[in-house]
Amino acid sequence: MPYFGVHESISGGHENAVYAAAAHGFACVQIFSKNSNRWVAKPLEPKSAQKFREALTQTGLIAPLIHDSYLINLASPEAEQLEKSRAAFTDELVRADVLGVPNVVMHPGAAKEDTRENGLRRVAESLDGIFASLPETNRVRVLLETTAGQGTYLGSRFEELAQIIEFSSFKDRLGVCFDTCHAFAAGYDFGTPEKYDAVFADFDKIIGLDRLCAFHLNDSVKGLGSKVDRHAHIGRGELGLEPFRFIVNDPRFADLPMYLETPKGETDEGDWDVVNLKTLRDLIK
Ligand SMILES: [Zn+2]
Repeated sequence: MPYFGVHESISGGHENAVYAAAAHGFACVQIFSKNSNRWVAKPLEPKSAQKFREALTQTGLIAPLIHDSYLINLASPEAEQLEKSRAAFTDELVRADVLGVPNVVMHPGAAKEDTRENGLRRVAESLDGIFASLPETNRVRVLLETTAGQGTYLGSRFEELAQIIEFSSFKDRLGVCFDTCHAFAAGYDFGTPEKYDAVFADFDKIIGLDRLCAFHLNDSVKGLGSKVDRHAHIGRGELGLEPFRFIVNDPRFADLPMYLETPKGETDEGDWDVVNLKTLRDLIK
């Protein structure tokens, strides 16, 4: 059975995210390592990291995952933004190491006025430089996330993620996170058994299923190929229940963490995270 997780807020302390995820019955948690809308944050206190690690031990939660700040664009052709992004992403890997988090998931970024190929190269170069700058003890891995492909944003085709890996000198530090909403919005249809098999056969051929380290399970507000990144509750968007049924029952993904990034709040049926988790569990045969 896959491990279901959820994105939680670190407001009031990183450990709060762990306790919130555990209280709702999840096995894993995803967090921002700091305020995701600011470039710099004060350094992580060793005491905060210790509380986070203790919370993991106490709750038994596994596979903690950090999502990088939305400001970061390692593909940027603009010198100042690129430099700030590299510094900020270095900080994400340092924080992950201190918190005992093995993986950081990131959006590859936007090529802006430059070509997509140059953008992809710059992501790989940025990551190479960052990995090289870190102490040998920092073995945090980076998961490239499939994106919806809005505008000049990179990573909406499996080929683009494969190219970043191809360009990288640190291939063993790279994995992929498959976001169901983003892939669907990017034009990947996996709504029937045949189409599902074809999409993951493609993934395997182009990237390799051995690179697939995590899923983001989100339904999509917008339709197939819309290129719009708007998450919906599981089974209540344009994807519907079937694609999730295929994923959670696929023996190839039985050991992978799968995180919800669905909207927070209450419904008549209770807390949305609890409702979405139950929806996923009910799909398991
Ligand atoms: Zn995602």
